Amino acid sequence: MAPFPDDLGLDTLRYYFDDKKVRKLFQRYKLIPKKPKNQQIICPTCGTGRLGTEKRNDNVVGWRYRCLNRECKKVIAPTKNTFFSQGHLSLYESLAIFMYYVQNCSLKLVIQNMHLGTEAAVNYYNFCKEICMWQFRKMMKDDGPIGGKGLHVEIDECYIRRKGNKGRLTKMEERQWKIFGGLCAETGQYFAFLVPKCTKKVLWRIIRDWIRPGSIIHSDGAAVYNELSGEEGKQFGIKIMGHEVVVHRTGQYVAESDLEPGHQITTNRIENLWKYAKRHISGQGTKKSVKKDLYKYLYFRQYLNQLDKPADRLNIFLKHVGNFFSLPLEEEKERNYPQYIVKISRKIEYKL
Ligand SMILES: [Zn+2]
Repeated sequence: MAPFPDDLGLDTLRYYFDDKKVRKLFQRYKLIPKKPKNQQIICPTCGTGRLGTEKRNDNVVGWRYRCLNRECKKVIAPTKNTFFSQGHLSLYESLAIFMYYVQNCSLKLVIQNMHLGTEAAVNYYNFCKEICMWQFRKMMKDDGPIGGKGLHVEIDECYIRRKGNKGRLTKMEERQWKIFGGLCAETGQYFAFLVPKCTKKVLWRIIRDWIRPGSIIHSDGAAVYNELSGEEGKQFGIKIMGHEVVVHRTGQYVAESDLEPGHQITTNRIENLWKYAKRHISGQGTKKSVKKDLYKYLYFRQYLNQLDKPADRLNIFLKHVGNFFSLPLEEEKERNYPQYIVKISRKIEYKL
């Protein structure tokens, strides 16, 4: 259950929340730290004093650390290096932006309605997108490979026309962004990657690592998939039960299976996924922005689109922001540093 009313929306946000209440809410979701009760944190500056806390009204959390070592007395903001230290927006404004974001409102609307500077709004929206990307990729990584013994996995590539950078791109192949993915017909689980090229070496590696042994793969007739279930595939380490093809060139979208009589071969599910994903990806950006667009779409599809109430969407999103902020950082653990001091600038991309 979310700790706010069911009818929370953009129109009722002001009614239910002020900065103080948002502070409590954000503490609850671990976006910002609570004032620690016992001071066990060693000062990172002098290395000997413990960090005490004192009330402050000039920062978003309402308190700050101070080293109790009289020779040091170092002051540390608990939001140091977190998103909220650079935001310059109030906590209420942050919450409002999250609310706009989970409802897929345009940046333009946010700027207009909230009287924000373009830069601040763009930064916040980018941050939200990073959270989506991080969470979706984390889920992919946590779930691991898809499919399994006797399950069907549809695979397909998707091309997005690449605009801009005209001078540098010469070959036809480079004028497109390429996405490769797989979707399990039975479980609905899927994976997706932006790939540099759609070559055997690139795609087969993903197939080997992301599809469980014993799966049956369905694909279109692209030459890159030839021999996937044959000797070459085996040598590559691909241990699938079978690979069947539906040839689109002949106008066919469903074919009868030879391997499993009565069963149909299709890649309609994954193609449908690409069809919608494409609408949400701007081919104009950099590799990073294309990647973010892709994972933002997949995130919304996975977690938010099926929720009608803004309150439910916000609840899920705040949980994910909180998860992101409370990731322990190895080096900071060693120094017994507050775990909230997470650098937003650090590489948040999971190595997949
Ligand atoms: Zn100190």
